[in-house]
Amino acid sequence: MVDCCSAPGLMPMNQAKETLLASIQPINDSEIITLSECDGRICAADIVSPINVPAHNNSAMDGYALCADFSQQAEIVKGTKFKLVGTAMAGQPYSGELLPGQCIRIMTGAVVPTSANTVEMQENITVSGNNVTTNQALKIARHIRLAGEDIASGGPVFSAGHKFTSIDIGLLASLGVNAINVWRKPVIAVFSTGDELKTANETLTLGDIYESNRHVLIAMLKRLHVDVIDLGIIADNKDKIREAFLTANAKADAVVSSGGVSVGDADYTKEILEELGNIAFWKIAMKPGKPFAFGKLDNSVFFGLPGNPVSATVTFHQLAVPAIKKMSGQAIAPSLQLKAKTTDNIKKRSGRMDFQRGLAFTQNNELTVTPLTHQGSGVLSSMSQANCYIILPQAHNGCLAGETVTIELFDHIIG
Ligand code: AMP
Ligand code: MG
Repeated sequence: MVDCCSAPGLMPMNQAKETLLASIQPINDSEIITLSECDGRICAADIVSPINVPAHNNSAMDGYALCADFSQQAEIVKGTKFKLVGTAMAGQPYSGELLPGQCIRIMTGAVVPTSANTVEMQENITVSGNNVTTNQALKIARHIRLAGEDIASGGPVFSAGHKFTSIDIGLLASLGVNAINVWRKPVIAVFSTGDELKTANETLTLGDIYESNRHVLIAMLKRLHVDVIDLGIIADNKDKIREAFLTANAKADAVVSSGGVSVGDADYTKEILEELGNIAFWKIAMKPGKPFAFGKLDNSVFFGLPGNPVSATVTFHQLAVPAIKKMSGQAIAPSLQLKAKTTDNIKKRSGRMDFQRGLAFTQNNELTVTPLTHQGSGVLSSMSQANCYIILPQAHNGCLAGETVTIELFDHIIG
């Protein structure tokens, strides 16, 4: 039993992550897509604004745009009279020239005439025929949204590496941009290995289980906006495994398999990989998920996940997802870790970094976390009830209820 933080033979989690990320090359092909296709895609070239946003000075209120004389005073007393000479609506500007002492009725978003120097809201104005009287002192440049105040023409909008969100699509639409240069999606091939694995339409015989890892992984990959090739379940048969790897390598930028990477496995994954590529079999000081294989086939990179469903999910999420993000050209944001008070004692032996599953919530204005009861690496149901990882460093020895622990909320890839 390994019980020391320098766990001999185990690679620290951060070292595994750094080694893996350092050997990933971002995909270098880009393509032009339309706005409606760009949700979740990665920007391949910096975007600058082709226009000012807003394009013109416009009114922030329904009211009156006035051409007042501020040359001698910062405020113009209430009761000042103006001549009403026209109207400006959004999309229908006032076409005349606004002269000193004149005003127009103006609606929110309508162009403010060049000579108007302030907008007063309608509540502060009395109108009688063509005569407009102010009910309170006027101040200069009120309620005018200035051209370019949101984004200036030629100003930076998005940098290469940015992942487009739904809001970004709105922003691009508001700039009149419809053709966007993005990195090509990586192609990821996925398969599961194991003679015991069956699909939903098959009958289980003694020792069989319904296969789940591939389904979890494909769902996560879809949220990463990559193209997925599902190669199904591959039996523990040397020729079939070789064939699966050759097919995957020919078609994909990355290959993800689960099962068959533990020491003492009865299957042939390790043997075939040693024949086909340059693969390292790591024992990572993390729990769940100690065995993990990573390396290069001749056309792709390979992630070999442990078979246990929670181990497969956590290692994929913590190690392979950042690597796939890098491959996609995405700028990698630092992870957001928070401090929470645990409601229960947490058991842990030092030696591995734990990613326990927890349920975080706010109680008495304090971020609080309850570790889920079943932390076994095969217990997917507890992971399904969780909304965060409780991350306990390698040397951590467990703690008591009421102590503070580090948590990482599940992101949109697994949440
Ligand atoms: P292995 O890493 O192949 O030794 O598998 C470890 C455990 O995970 C075994 O109990 C397997 O039956 C289980 N397992 C392996 N692959 C899958 C899978 N794709 N879905 C669900 N369980 C799996
Ligand atoms: Mg197996």
